[in-house]
Amino acid sequence: MSAKLFLDAVTAKNTSRPAIGSGTSIVTEELMTVADAYFPQAHQDPKDMAKLAITGHTILGYDVVMPLFSVWHESAAIGCPVKWGDRLHMPDCGKAIWKTDSDIKLSKDFLLHPAAKTPLDAIAILKKELGNNCAVCGKVFGPWTLGYHVFGIEEFLVNTLLDPDMIKRAIDKLKQLTIWYAKAQIEAGADCLLLADHATRDLCGPDMYRDFLLPVHTELVEKIGCPLILHICGDTKDRIGHIRQSRIHCFHWDTKSGHPQKIRDLAGTKLSLMGGISNIETLYAGTIEDVARQVDASIKAGINIIGPECAVPLNAKLENLRAISDQVNLLIRNTGSAENSI
Ligand SMILES: [Zn+2]
Repeated sequence: MSAKLFLDAVTAKNTSRPAIGSGTSIVTEELMTVADAYFPQAHQDPKDMAKLAITGHTILGYDVVMPLFSVWHESAAIGCPVKWGDRLHMPDCGKAIWKTDSDIKLSKDFLLHPAAKTPLDAIAILKKELGNNCAVCGKVFGPWTLGYHVFGIEEFLVNTLLDPDMIKRAIDKLKQLTIWYAKAQIEAGADCLLLADHATRDLCGPDMYRDFLLPVHTELVEKIGCPLILHICGDTKDRIGHIRQSRIHCFHWDTKSGHPQKIRDLAGTKLSLMGGISNIETLYAGTIEDVARQVDASIKAGINIIGPECAVPLNAKLENLRAISDQVNLLIRNTGSAENSI
């Protein structure tokens, strides 16, 4: 039962082997061809979305599927004018919609907008098709990333310095969107959720993380009430100590943060860890031997879920993505490891 193994791994329980997969997009051009489901339709049609997401299990051999391939679903549903891209480009939006916290007007009706509803329908399809054979992971964005989307990144970051109280009020309002969408995805059938909040080091210092986001992430863990995987891009070694205090179940870390053993040392034994395989160096430019080397280092460091570090580039190699599950299974067989405990 891959679903149980995956959820045990997310919650840092002992498992017979490390779980395999990612809470961010694993879609590439090659995977779209294999699935016969393509961007942008796979962002907008629940059947195509589910058809593409399920290949994470059926073609790549991962223990989890995750159908929200972009960062824009809930933001599009509240009014951001998103361009949904094409086979070679991820969706994007270059336009802010609000200036201050007093502009933020949210209603639960956003769940009826096609941009928010499509992933809910896809999650329901995936859960029905996969049952307990594979975990279904949803994805929501935290209020820091939503702030980038609705105010624009520069405007948001300038105001963290010029008007921090306004930003705190905005975060307080935007977190309701995260909670609503999380609960709707759980109701649709998601077993767990990735919470992406792009408080990355070059845009948010460790003290800013502690002051603006640690209390919010702690509250989200309590209010959402399902196994949560926090994803932050880039080098995060200076805030893993704060993240472990949030009681989030699992942290999806980027290899720019350092060697898996170093991340495990910073995370301690109670915070589950996901990742270990680098996107550019290995999945895009590397070989199966490079995948094997990073899988081996991740197993030795007690990484609970081995997979890509972040949303993979659309031109990453399918054979390298597939090699992650092959190598985990091979190495576990060869070493005869009975338990993945940290
Ligand atoms: Zn990332």
